Amino acid sequence: MSAPRLEIDLGKIGHNVSTLIARLGRRGIAVTGITKAALGSPELGRALVGAGVRTLGDSRIENLEKLQRAQVPAILALIRSPMRSQLDRVVQCADLSFNTEIDVVAGLSAAAGKRSTTHGVVLMVELGDLREGILPADLKEVVSEILQLPNITLEGLGTNLACRSGVVPDAAKMADLSELVATIETSFDVQLGIVSGGNSANLVWALGDGRVGRVNDLRLGESLLLGLDPLNRKPIDGLYTDAITMVAEVIESKIKPSLPWGHTAQAAFGPPDAPTDQGLVAQTILALGEQDVDPVGLSAPAGIHIMGASSDHLILTSTEPFSVGEELRFTPNYSALLRAMTSPFVVKEFEVASGADPDWPRPEASDFGGIRPSAISNQ
Ligand SMILES: *Cc1c(COP(=O)(O)O)cnc(C)c1O
Repeated sequence: MSAPRLEIDLGKIGHNVSTLIARLGRRGIAVTGITKAALGSPELGRALVGAGVRTLGDSRIENLEKLQRAQVPAILALIRSPMRSQLDRVVQCADLSFNTEIDVVAGLSAAAGKRSTTHGVVLMVELGDLREGILPADLKEVVSEILQLPNITLEGLGTNLACRSGVVPDAAKMADLSELVATIETSFDVQLGIVSGGNSANLVWALGDGRVGRVNDLRLGESLLLGLDPLNRKPIDGLYTDAITMVAEVIESKIKPSLPWGHTAQAAFGPPDAPTDQGLVAQTILALGEQDVDPVGLSAPAGIHIMGASSDHLILTSTEPFSVGEELRFTPNYSALLRAMTSPFVVKEFEVASGADPDWPRPEASDFGGIRPSAISNQ
């Protein structure tokens, strides 16, 4: 088999998805499945839909276009504010986009008008993490302008926390969001169907027993793929944390001294870590490097220590040497996964090992309520 490769068990991911959908469903919260860590993979998209997800979200239009071309039956949402240079592509492909700039929404309105279609808009509100979002004080004015734009429907409000500054999406922040929803609905006599409370970092709050308020949707990526809660990177009860495995091949394995010799200066990626003298060690090189993965984000099996990496070499020590050609397996964190998915050198192998048939059930357009997914209506 080819190496390096990512083995992606869609059965385990499907289990993670349906487990979280059931738990959140009891709290009145739906799951938007985020595919960006898998470059909008149609295989992943189908597995998410098969497990019960109705909306797929991605931050890149290229990834949504991939899902659309593959006719994955889902509402497609662009979850990063659209680039002005891509507005035609956005209205062509995405049923919904998340927005923070009135000029961009005006551009979406014009682009949707040219195609005689309507485009759904969710407005992102800044609640303190200082990434994207309209400041609450400016929200009413933006909404009043948007409600006058043709070919645009205001579908809801959202927020994103715990991404740039680590601000926790707790009960107080979610109550702030619910209050903004109520204010906008009363002031403008509208109904906001989507209240998108945040990402995987919201799960502690969402699965607790506090009041959910108006929040009825979460955008989940990391928790579905890795089974981890991003606030503390601990496993979420009942989810698989080993659905995705990074496999790499041994290209050298020798007994070598643990200390370098000669005059030392900087290494390929800056000053090297201070070496410790452990005498002779079994040193192994894998054909895997910074171009393939974030080496810091790999967890090694017991007895193997990752000592360093360059562009193309991952260096390990272990009690015994390995054979050349042998494969070793690691668990990637989010950062390692993202880079491995993006590297053209890493083969992505989707497996449907444990049960879930990713093509079932195929939803009908009528299952989607108000927003009719273009991937289905174009079929
Ligand atoms: C990436 C992203 C998500 C998903 O975050 P996870 O931590 O992977 O669940 C949600 N919302 C937005 C706006 C994002 O960019």
